[in-house]
Amino acid sequence: MISVRSLIKDYGEIRAVNGISFEIKSGEVVGFLGPNGAGKTTTMQIITGYLRPTSGEVLIQDRDISENHISIKNSIGYLPENTPLYEDLNVYDFLDFVASVRELNGKKKDSIKRASELCGISDVLDRPIGELSKGYRQRVGLAQAIIHDPPILILDEPTTGLDPIQIMEIRELIKRLGEEKTVLLSTHILPEVEQTCNRVIVIHKGVIVADSDIDELREAISGGVVRVEYRGSINPDEFRRFGKVSDITEKDGNISLKIVPAEGSVDIREAVYRFCKDSDLVLLELYREKRSLEEIFRELTLEVREVEA
Ligand code: ATP
Repeated sequence: MISVRSLIKDYGEIRAVNGISFEIKSGEVVGFLGPNGAGKTTTMQIITGYLRPTSGEVLIQDRDISENHISIKNSIGYLPENTPLYEDLNVYDFLDFVASVRELNGKKKDSIKRASELCGISDVLDRPIGELSKGYRQRVGLAQAIIHDPPILILDEPTTGLDPIQIMEIRELIKRLGEEKTVLLSTHILPEVEQTCNRVIVIHKGVIVADSDIDELREAISGGVVRVEYRGSINPDEFRRFGKVSDITEKDGNISLKIVPAEGSVDIREAVYRFCKDSDLVLLELYREKRSLEEIFRELTLEVREVEA
């Protein structure tokens, strides 16, 4: 549905996006995650046709975005960062204006009704936008993005600047929209991705450092780390045969340690168990450690920094 191929964007000397590629299939809700300045907004502006890439291409439903065709524009709804809204207009008039720009003509009334019901703003249609809370403004922003009922939604940091309750409400709304639309949502907040998306693409310094189903990402990266607790006469250093050993502690004769296998996510539990058995150790605990996405995210963005250093 969305195909991004070898995208590069330079702003003068600055390479904001450095050769990224990914595909998003119909029905996916994808989190585009990265720290500030990673290149998220730039990528989204290219996908929506607001910005031209330096090189590379974007296909929306198999059509090149640079064709600038009306059918491509109509298939995308875009919520930019800091949604520009007309403060003096009331909500209805603003949506009416957006519907006119979208050339909805005869379908305007129904479109406004559908979008405002979906976004929970039916009660504030006669209120001036300038008087609304930030949460409600964001709902209005989402309503303008879906006014023409596009199959694809591109949302740039949709919860920035909201309070915790508004954040929860907007995430719920996005989840609801995600039931019928393909969504690409940018954020630098991990829980946002965990709560609303089924896939995550991590971008850092213009490069994609991970692209995975959220559970698979957690599994792939955290799968290998093993915690062991044992009692016996073997020196903890003996476990170095399985990988890097750290966090060694001893309490009442019980030794616990952490092993990070040299080959990343390989499962070493069986080998560790056999080693303990053959060495006559009392194995008290042996488990693969689950790390939080937060740690994984930090690790992924750190790896890039280390490679660059
Ligand atoms: P944030 O979360 O802070 O919005 P982002 O991931 O959306 O960040 P971008 O806004 O795409 O990142 O910026 C990527 C890089 O490009 C940054 O180094 C930024 O300073 C630079 N950049 C963005 N827009 C411009 C511009 N118009 N002119 C020059 N440099 C720019």
